[in-house]
Amino acid sequence: MTALVWLRHDLRLRDNPALFKAAALEEGVVAVYVHCDAYVRLHDQSAAQRDFIRRHLHILRTDLAELNIPLLVSRVEKPAQIAPEILHLAQSLNAGHCFFNAEYPVNELNRDMAVNQLLREQGIAVKRCHDRCIVPPGMVRNGQGEPYKVFTAFKKKWLHTVMPLSLTPLDLPLCQAADPAVNGCTPEAIDQLFSAHELRDLSVLWSAGEQEAYTRLDEFIAHGLTGYLDQRDYPAIEGTSTLSPYFAVGSLSPRQALSAVLAYTYGDWSGNAGAACWISELIWREFYQHVVVDYPQVCKRKAMQAHTEAFPWQKDTGLFDAWCKGMTGIPIVDAAMRQLNATGWMHNRLRMIVAMFLTKNCQIDWRWGEQYFISQLIDGDFAANNGGWQWSASTGTDAAPYFRIFNPCSQSERFDPTGEFIRKWVPEIAHLSTKDIHSPPPQSGYPLPIVDLSESRKATIALFKNLQPYTTT
Ligand SMILES: Cc1cc2nc3c(=O)[nH]c(=O)nc-3n(C[C@H](O)[C@H](O)[C@H](O)COP(=O)(O)OP(=O)(O)OC[C@H]3O[C@@H](n4cnc5c(N)ncnc54)[C@H](O)[C@@H]3O)c2cc1C
Repeated sequence: MTALVWLRHDLRLRDNPALFKAAALEEGVVAVYVHCDAYVRLHDQSAAQRDFIRRHLHILRTDLAELNIPLLVSRVEKPAQIAPEILHLAQSLNAGHCFFNAEYPVNELNRDMAVNQLLREQGIAVKRCHDRCIVPPGMVRNGQGEPYKVFTAFKKKWLHTVMPLSLTPLDLPLCQAADPAVNGCTPEAIDQLFSAHELRDLSVLWSAGEQEAYTRLDEFIAHGLTGYLDQRDYPAIEGTSTLSPYFAVGSLSPRQALSAVLAYTYGDWSGNAGAACWISELIWREFYQHVVVDYPQVCKRKAMQAHTEAFPWQKDTGLFDAWCKGMTGIPIVDAAMRQLNATGWMHNRLRMIVAMFLTKNCQIDWRWGEQYFISQLIDGDFAANNGGWQWSASTGTDAAPYFRIFNPCSQSERFDPTGEFIRKWVPEIAHLSTKDIHSPPPQSGYPLPIVDLSESRKATIALFKNLQPYTTT
């Protein structure tokens, strides 16, 4: 009996548990990708990420065919149609098993439970594999068996938990016996999936496919890892891995990334500060994936810390539009937003700066920023994005204390000291001196800041002070 593998955010062949386990049965495998029109709108998925997925599917189709695994694609309008569609595909293929890798946000959990129930009722075995995290959600607990709310404690326990686990990535799935009865989809069928939606082709910047992900990983490990700690905060330097889009669509797994570091450091990264720091970032990624399982209210547009819901966020569309367009009058914020709008990606230091500026200086609801980010990012990932926004807004698990508000101009002087990054993205002030470029003088002709940094900072702190005290432990 054939095994069906339902691909989602795991668009790769290697180290793909669902695909690997299905192929190991040696009963024939068919892979399927189901596109849901409503999910695109519900999740505000960016046109850049949609096109990135489309390009990945083209590569997967060819690579899977070499293993005699046909790829089928299907399109539904509504989430409720997904489970019947998977059942229909499974039955038409006479599949005895359906494999997929777990996804953790609430909508995805509900979707997968519906598929599980429907298929089991019809006698089709469902196998849900853990893939998205190295340590699956639920395995990192404090002494009372509760989830962590603070990253540092989570990280300590995560490191303790990960050691005994097998970190060797899985190999390619077994090649199957050819089955002439099942034809894979055509390239046109893949393109057709996305025909109702705008696509944004950023292939010049972001080539698709797991091979590209490995190339970037190898390049980063060889040339960027050791210097990562010192370089990662400077947006003018290519000091980070730029692997986030590949993690987001699953053309690279976190196990592959961690095992590459282990191989480079001969199994002991403690003597390599860059490696230790990069692993910490991978753990941040895991932390936020665990948060959506342990605190599902964050999937419902709720603040992690309930008392912060009382904060009187402004609904000022003028300020928000200026921020989106990179026209705030604060050069580092404008440069960052223009980088996002042009490339579908933004440096991590800048994500924190622009998110704090929007929430703490403009007092705009973090949910507006979260939504705009996901609608533009090629690496949009619900857990990381929500976690990053709630951290910046001081509403989240590991919230930055409300009184710790970045001054974007000081951040600019510190992390773009020569103004190189600003000059690239805000060319109208490229001629300004290094002293002036971070806060252009009025006579420069650059727009004045849309808010007074000092006054808005004081006002925000006062408003936060009125909320209930923090209870983070
Ligand atoms: C407001 C805000 C929104 C964000 N939105 C997203 C998002 O939608 N998708 C996304 O992947 N990341 C998001 N991040 C986290 C981080 O900015 C990006 O992962 C990082 O900039 C990607 O660049 P890189 O691959 O070169 O990272 P590297 O520095 O090379 O780090 C390696 C990997 O670790 C993970 N990582 C690094 N930092 C974080 C972090 N703070 N939180 C979670 N994971 C992290 C990413 O998977 C990244 O690819 C957000 C951060 C903030 C502050």
